[in-house]
Amino acid sequence: MESRLLEILVCPVCKSPLRYERQRQELICRADRLAFPIRDGVPVMLEDEARELDDTDPAPAPAGTPQAAATPPASPGGATRQ
Ligand SMILES: [Zn+2]
Repeated sequence: MESRLLEILVCPVCKSPLRYERQRQELICRADRLAFPIRDGVPVMLEDEARELDDTDPAPAPAGTPQAAATPPASPGGATRQ
């Protein structure tokens, strides 16, 4: 429900998908380095209301990166068969 709503939220400046920071209750645009506040559960998608991120802001690595992306080595088709 809520996550579905957040999926369609894009930056009003550059139209990039926004990153939801649950702890800060902000929506982050990494490209513009802007943080849009969420007030009472309502994202404020106004550039004037956005907070500028400075370089000292911690940029957490994207979570949920699948670790099972390793592909098995392709075996030659029957070449090693004796
Ligand atoms: Zn943006």
